[in-house]
Amino acid sequence: MPKIIYVYQEEIECDCGNTSFQSGFFACLEDGSLVEPTIDSGWDGLYVCMECDQIFKYAD
Ligand SMILES: [Zn+2]
Repeated sequence: MPKIIYVYQEEIECDCGNTSFQSGFFACLEDGSLVEPTIDSGWDGLYVCMECDQIFKYAD
């Protein structure tokens, strides 16, 4: 299972340098596959970096 980095600030800033103003981040599942961010898609609030596939989740 890929490592998930928890995000505590409003904007995700990936270690690779990607931000939401560049390639951005897309909703994904735990394996990194892209998913529609809807309630019935099984999405759990995860985002994947479009540059390096790192997965992020906003901390509560
Ligand atoms: Zn990245």
